[in-house]
Amino acid sequence: MSEMKLTDLSFLRALMARHGISAQKKYGQNFLINPAVPARIAGQGCPPGGGVIEIGPGMGTLTRELCLRAPKVVCLEIDARLLPVLDETLADFDNVKVLCRDALKTDLPALVKEEFGGFPSVSVCANLPYYITTPIVMALLESGVRFERITVMVQKEVADRLTASAGSPEYGAITAAIGCYGKAEKLFTVSPGSFYPAPTVDSCVMQIVPFADDPFADCDRKLLSSLIRAAFEMRRKTLQNNLKGLLSERERKAAALELSRLGFPPDVRGERLSSADFAVLCRAVMKERE
Ligand code: SAM
Repeated sequence: MSEMKLTDLSFLRALMARHGISAQKKYGQNFLINPAVPARIAGQGCPPGGGVIEIGPGMGTLTRELCLRAPKVVCLEIDARLLPVLDETLADFDNVKVLCRDALKTDLPALVKEEFGGFPSVSVCANLPYYITTPIVMALLESGVRFERITVMVQKEVADRLTASAGSPEYGAITAAIGCYGKAEKLFTVSPGSFYPAPTVDSCVMQIVPFADDPFADCDRKLLSSLIRAAFEMRRKTLQNNLKGLLSERERKAAALELSRLGFPPDVRGERLSSADFAVLCRAVMKERE
């Protein structure tokens, strides 16, 4: 079976009808039908020689492209109805394993150890279900596994947010949080007509390259996340006001001193601070707590 056929709408519909399945909205099922897109995503998402984890293989359209490029592909699919379809559409590959799992409830370090021990690297490549994009991205980053690359299709609006620069309207707690783990960039936009069923908005393939040398390794990660979350709690409030619930007066004074050293005015809002700026605050608070 060629990849061309899986992206052929009448072929896909017939395949789904034969297996008695329809696209489930609750699982964010929008299957790729633009033949150029799966190869393009896989081309960017498979570093040479490294294993790949795919979240949500669906009908196997992107999976097939990953199998052509990676020595081993392990897929996590929540919808058990799709397993017989994947048995069929991936039958000509022996380097793929499909696990019926909820990606959000999967022990990623254990999975990587079990499936990719001895591999030079592991990456994640996926057309993500839109209803859980950010929890999945954060779970990947917070898992403790250093993925070589995380290449994911998300709603364009989400990609804009996840890759925004500090101070821009799209910049938020999630952007700053991601910046503590690696560098995120947008790769290319994909139109609604590239999917069946078509979503209402544009999509975008983005990539996160986690830091090889973690510049935040000396930070208490829990404190760093709490600082970021608190800083954006009330967007209209100043950073100092937002930190009142989290830090003691002494800690806030230490933070204020660092902010002025960084060149920020006392009434700065959290949205102006980059991940590196939050790390500076984090270190100052850690010092106060020693
Ligand atoms: N990869 C396919 C493609 O590009 O055509 C399907 C992508 S579709 C947007 C998202 C897929 O993720 C669906 O197959 C859906 O069943 C699966 N999915 C949804 N929630 C999931 C979860 N929590 N864990 C694993 N897979 C999930």
